Amino acid sequence: MVYDGPILDNHFHLNRKGLFLEAARSFQRVGGTDLVLVHCPDFAAPPETLEGHQTAYADTLSMAQSVRDEVGLGVRVVLGPHPAAFAHQFERWVSEDGDAGKERAVENYRHSIEAALAFVHEGQAHAIGEVGRPHWPVSDEIWDLSNELLDETMHLAAQEGLPLQLHVEGESEDTYPDLAKRALRQGMDLRKLIRHYSPPDVREAHTHGLTPSVLCGKGALERLVETHSMAKNGFFLETDYMDDPRRPGAVLGPKTVPKRTQQLLAAGVDEEVMWNTHSALPNRVYGE
Ligand SMILES: [Zn+2]
Repeated sequence: MVYDGPILDNHFHLNRKGLFLEAARSFQRVGGTDLVLVHCPDFAAPPETLEGHQTAYADTLSMAQSVRDEVGLGVRVVLGPHPAAFAHQFERWVSEDGDAGKERAVENYRHSIEAALAFVHEGQAHAIGEVGRPHWPVSDEIWDLSNELLDETMHLAAQEGLPLQLHVEGESEDTYPDLAKRALRQGMDLRKLIRHYSPPDVREAHTHGLTPSVLCGKGALERLVETHSMAKNGFFLETDYMDDPRRPGAVLGPKTVPKRTQQLLAAGVDEEVMWNTHSALPNRVYGE
């Protein structure tokens, strides 16, 4: 049996210096219909002003429009301050200016959220992300500040009814329970808390009610097949495709989600489950 319904990649980046529209076309050629395009900052020079964030986001929105117009895919857009860019900026500014540097970093984080929210209100963006915590060991000061700002962003998401795409540290037993606890404290609907780069164990007992977006490398299939029926809201599939000319095909190539979808079906996963992953769940989480 071949699945011929919609196919959505829930975490995809594009870069004008990478394959750009060609990457979207490769995805489409193997059955892809919808992308969730996540803003990727210029890590070498992330914005330092409100206007800088607006300009950087406007470029991601314009790439999304080109994919809709020239390739014909459905595209949702996720905008926000990448935790890696933010943490590096914070480290640099604090080492240069101490407390004043810390204030500057917090203000810059808030500006990047403010600029993203304005585009959400205009209907041009659909979620905030990727936000979260550094995925490498950092000082307690940076860890605590990252958590404070994450709580603040969860509070905003709860008030606005917005989805968040989270980028957090690698697998640890505490990660999911800690995120769920923080989000509930801020009043968030846990369904709208999407963990990007999620491991393939999607059982509710493991995810604590968050929505996992599973990085679908080959090794993820078996675990997904075993656990999908115990998921709470279902799960997304993603590649975290970077469109980076220096690392072609990283993290996973643009054709991976359509390919894995067919493999999941062949392994006995119901068509309805795939329909949820690619259509019903995105509509529930992001809106139609
Ligand atoms: Zn990413």
